[in-house]
Order: sequence, then structure tokens, then C-alpha cells
Amino acid sequence: MLPSSYNSILVAFSLIVAILASYTALNMAARVSSTRGRAALLWLVGGSFAMGLGIWSMHFVGMLAFSLPIPLGYDLGLTLLSLLIAIGSSAFALWMVCQRDMPKMHLMLGALLMGAGIAAMHYTGMAAMQMTPQVVYVPWILVLSVVIAVVASGAALWIAFRLRGDSEHVFYARIGASLVMGCAIVGMHYTGMAAAQFPIDSFCGAANSGIDAKWLAIVVIVVTFAVFAIALIISMLDARTSILASSLDEANSELVQLALHDNLTKLPNRILLDDRLDQAIQKATRDGRNFAVLFMDLDGFKAVNDIYGHHVGDKLLEEVAQRILDTKRSEDTAARLGGDEFVLLIDPGEPEDAAVLAQRLIESLGKPYEMGRNTLHISASIGVAVYPGDGETAHELMVNADAAMYHSKEAGRNCYSFFESKMNANAHEQLKLQQELLGALDRNEFILHYQPKMIAPAGPMIGVEALLRWQSPERGMVPPDAFLPLAERTGLIVSIGNWVIDEACRQLKVWHQQGNADWSIAVNLSTVQLGHPGLVDAVRSTLQKHDLPPSCLILEVTESTAMRDAESSLVILDELTSLGVSISIDDFGTGYSSLLYLKRLPANELKIDRGFVTELAQGNDDAAIVSAIIALGKTLGLKIVAEGVETAEQQDLLTRLGCDTLQGFYLGRPVAPELLFSSLAAAKAKLAAEASADEPSR
Ligand code: C2E
Ligand code: MG
Ligand code: MG
Repeated sequence: MLPSSYNSILVAFSLIVAILASYTALNMAARVSSTRGRAALLWLVGGSFAMGLGIWSMHFVGMLAFSLPIPLGYDLGLTLLSLLIAIGSSAFALWMVCQRDMPKMHLMLGALLMGAGIAAMHYTGMAAMQMTPQVVYVPWILVLSVVIAVVASGAALWIAFRLRGDSEHVFYARIGASLVMGCAIVGMHYTGMAAAQFPIDSFCGAANSGIDAKWLAIVVIVVTFAVFAIALIISMLDARTSILASSLDEANSELVQLALHDNLTKLPNRILLDDRLDQAIQKATRDGRNFAVLFMDLDGFKAVNDIYGHHVGDKLLEEVAQRILDTKRSEDTAARLGGDEFVLLIDPGEPEDAAVLAQRLIESLGKPYEMGRNTLHISASIGVAVYPGDGETAHELMVNADAAMYHSKEAGRNCYSFFESKMNANAHEQLKLQQELLGALDRNEFILHYQPKMIAPAGPMIGVEALLRWQSPERGMVPPDAFLPLAERTGLIVSIGNWVIDEACRQLKVWHQQGNADWSIAVNLSTVQLGHPGLVDAVRSTLQKHDLPPSCLILEVTESTAMRDAESSLVILDELTSLGVSISIDDFGTGYSSLLYLKRLPANELKIDRGFVTELAQGNDDAAIVSAIIALGKTLGLKIVAEGVETAEQQDLLTRLGCDTLQGFYLGRPVAPELLFSSLAAAKAKLAAEASADEPSR
């Protein structure tokens, strides 16, 4: 046998080439599996070339490192064939790695095919030397080299499959894996070489006709490194952009989530709901089917917010959202419109489905809520509109479901109602009213009536309460209850309220100048006004404008208004009293003031609600309540006013119970300012006549 030797520098080179080839291959596998369509195909083709060229040039460099004491060369055709085999097995390997999953059977089959491919490349490369006589192979070493090729291929496939994807930590794992794979490939090659024995009189047939090995070595090494470099750079750039693209994707879907969902409950918001409604309409029209919209509003939620704070309110809303999700069917859409308003889109849905779901929702939402130490009770009012009968557009359906919901509220809450067209009439009416109200202030359609407040029992008069009226050209004289709720909802109340304060002060100034300088004037404030930041300044400047002492202005706030946002109400009421104006608590007894809160309110006066006065008779419950309220008010140092006094008996009883001031139709109706004096005189005359009529019978 011919003695053989190895050039150790080239051997080292072959190892480096093998490791680089492995690293490139792993990178390519990741690219193929993380892209789609044409891009994946391009990566597969490019990757197969880079990897095949890598494995082959490792082999080639290994062959160049090998020398015999005779001249050696390589047949071009067979050498190219061995390269093709390398590329083919690489393509197969990459294709395997980018499959969705890799069962054991596939892995074993793949390892066998790829190992066979590498071995085939190696021995084809050997055959390119065209030795005569034939190279003698030691059988067991030859088998060992093929086994190494198969096992190394299996390991390579498995590692590459596991290291797909583009995360940071994969980088180091990939370097480690390349080292292992590189050594395995080199191991196979040199085992294969160890199996080859060259008889003493061997002659290399390709030595003269084939390619000259020495200068080709340089070319192969340079080209191989260039291919690796290009492949690696491109694949890394591509990985960067794909990481960038996927994080952009993530950010984008997060934005979409934010834009289309409610922050607190994570339910779809109004925008997404509108979209779903439009889809439902299209589908229902196409299939000739129905669907239903359930509009839910919580009963008593505002009180929870006021009493326990927004934090608890938010928690409650989350729990409500969860209960709605638990109750609805999977195909329904639950959305939150804001505040305590929720919508359930039942698609597809017959009226019967809607009724069943509405009832279940009412039962589920009505169960107690355990919030830390507190157990809270709320309920829901629901309105149902069914497509297409109750509306053909998303807007119409929502408006009508809303109207039906209001009907449920009026019917006593904690129930559901189906939409009926007469509810719609009411909604239209509200819209019309709103449009008329919008211009009423500019058209000077508001006036104030004044009702006397008398020292108990029968005077003299110490002041008046200003009561707003709307003289509508279309509707005639409209009482405040008919338009104030709307004015509050639309915010119009702020400018109307400022007008009221101004007009009341102007009128009082006139009366002062006429010689009634001790009269005061009471003006009602709504919740919205109290929450409006400009209120204190408006009051201050109006008093200055009309040159009135602040002490003659009384601002009436209802008990529930003062309670609405208790802490911030306190701040504003304190600012108002420090201006010097008085605060009166109106409609007292109808709200839910806590005694502690009442004590902190900077009020001077307490007005017992008309409801108690109306039913007042000696010895009944109302008398007991009224005397309790009076006792409470006196303890807090408040002046007690009774409103709604309509009879002599009420006047008498309230006086005896200890009221300081009385107000009511019996003592004087609200009248236009020019009629105040005549009405006072008439009331006085009537009282006197009654008194003298009573006299003889006593
Ligand atoms: P309020 O402040 O409790 O006013 C007393 C209401 O009771 C007035 O109704 C008055 O006409 C009525 N009233 C007075 N005496 C009697 C009586 O003996 N028997 C009966 N049955 N009723 C009597 P009005 O004028 O319809 O006002 C209703 C409510 O509208 C007021 O209740 C007040 O809360 C609100 N309001 C009136 N004017 C304004 C205003 O300028 N701004 C604001 N924010 N609210 C106002
Ligand atoms: Mg009042
Ligand atoms: Mg009142």
C-alpha cells in the first residue's frame, strides 16, 4: 500500500469550512421556515446551494490536504457530479426542516437519505481520482463512515428543526450546534479516507487530464468563503427585518386592540360594535334572518361610584363584563359603550332568544357582588330591538334599543322591554325639544317666576325663590321639569343657569332699590352646574355687576346633587360660602346623605322635601320624619324651610314643629316679578278673610 500523509493546515481549513457550512445551513433553515411563498422557495434554493457547496468544499479541501507519493488530479465531470449530489441532499434536508412537524419516522428516514447523500458525494469525489487499480476499501471502516454520515445527518436535522425561528437566545445555541455538526461531517470524511487503501503501483488517471489541484484549492476556498459570507449576511439582514416586521406586527395589533376595545373591561367598544352591527345586517339581509340588539344600563351604578369611589366602580364594571361574557352564547358580541352601558348583539337571534338571554342577564347581573369587605347590589335595565322590524340601520337599532331600555327604567328597572314604535315617538320628541331648546336662550324665551318665602307662620316675606320657565312659541309655558333633564344632558344648563343667576340678581337689585333691601333671593343649581369649573367666578362677577351683597344670594342644591361627587362638591360649596353666599339643601329627605357628610356640608339652610309636607297630618309617619329632620337640622345649626305648604293645617303644624320659614301655594304661588306685590296683597287678604271667617266658629 502507498503511504499517505495529510497537510495539517488544510485539514484545519476543512474543519473550519465544515463548521461554517453547518452554521450557514442552520441559518438558512430558519429563514426557510419563517418565510412564506416565493421567499421561502428562494431561501430553499439559495440555502441548498450554500449548504451543498459548503459540504462539498469541505470534502474537496479535505482531499487537497491528502497526498500520496504520486501525482494526483480530479476528473471534472465526476467532481461536478459530487457537487450536485451535495446540493441535492442539502435541498432535501432544508425542505425536511421547514415542515410543520417532524415525527420520529420522518427524522429517521431523512437521516438515512441525507447520510446516504453525503456518503455518495464523498465516494463519487473519491472516484473522480480515477485510480488504477481501484482503491481498496476496508469494509468495516467504510460502513462506519456511512453510519457516521447517517447519525450526523440525523443529529443535524433534529438540531436544525429545533433551532428554527429568529429569537436572540437561538444565536448561541446555533453556534454550539454548528460546532457539533461541523465535527461530525469532518469525522465522516476522515473515517472514509481511513477506509481507503491505495495499492503500491497505483496510478491516478485524472492526474494529467483532470483539474490541477494546487491553484484550484485557493479558488475553492475563496469562493466558498465568499458564498458563506454573502449567504450569512443576507440571512442575518433578513432575520433582522423579519424580527422588526414581527414586532411592528405586534405593535400594530396592540394598537388595533386598543382602538377597538374598551380599556377597562377589554370588551369591544362602540367602533367595533358598529362594525359588527353592519356585518350582522349584511348577513341577516342575505340569509333572510333576524338578529337582536340588547341595550343594558345598570341601575344604581352611579350611587356605587359616589359612595365607594371610582376604584370600586371600575372593579364592579369588570365583574359585570365578566358576567355578561359568561351568560352570552359564543356567537354573540358583547360590547361596552362607556359608563355603565353595555350592548349584546345576538346574531342570529329570534325575539324568543333575546327574551331568554335578557332574562338570564337580569338574573346574573342582579346577584350580589362581593367587593372586598363590601357586598354590593345593582341591577340592570334592558331594551331589545330586533332587526329588521325595529330598525334597518345600525343607528336606528341602537336608538330604538336605547328607547326600550329607558322604558324599562321607567317601568321600575331590573327588567327588559322590547321596542315598540310609541317609544320611538318619545325619542323623536326629545330630539325636537333639544333643537328648540338650543336657540331658546338667544331668543330670550326664558323667564323667571318668583315664589315668596315667609317667616313661619304667615310672614313677613324674607325673600323669594327664582323658578325657571320657558315660554316656548310652540309649546307655551314649559315647566322646568319638562326641559331641565334635557338641558343637563346636553350641557345647555350651564349657560341657562348663568342666565338665571344674572337675571335673578338683576331683579333683586330692582326690589332692593324699591325699598326691600332685606330680601334675599334663592337660585337653584343643578348637578352639572356644580361640577362646572366656571361657577364660582360666574357667581362672584354677577354679584359685583349688580352691586349686591353676597349674603342676599342663596344657592339651592338638592341633596343628591351635593352627594353626587361628594368630595369635589364640598370643595366648590366651600369656595361659594367663602364668597359670602348661603347654601341651602333642597328636597331634603329624598336622598341618602350620611350624617357625617351632612355635618361637613357648609350649608345654612335645609329645605324639607315637598313630599313629606303633602302627606303631613298630625301623628302620622310624615310628621314623625319631619320632626326628626327638624331636630337634626337644628342640631347642625341650620335654618329649616318647609316647601309645598298648601293648607292652613300644614302651615300650622310645620310652625309648631319648629320650621323657621314656609313656602308654598298657600302662602304665595310662583309669579312673574311684576305680579309679586299684587299676589302678596291678594294672599294676605285671603288669609285675613279666612282668619275672620274662622273667628266666630271658635
Ligand atoms: P324646587 O327647587 O324644589 O322648587 C319648588 C317647586 O315646587 C317649584 O316647581 C314650585 O312651583 C313647586 N311648588 C311650590 N309650592 C308648591 C305647593 O304648595 N304645592 C306644589 N304642588 N308645588 C309647589 P317648579 O317651578 O316646577 O320647579 C321644579 C324644580 O325645577 C325645582 O324644584 C327645581 O329643582 C328645578 N328648578 C326650577 N328652576 C330652576 C333653575 O333655575 N335652575 C335649576 N337648576 N333648577 C330649577
Ligand atoms: Mg329649590
Ligand atoms: Mg324643593
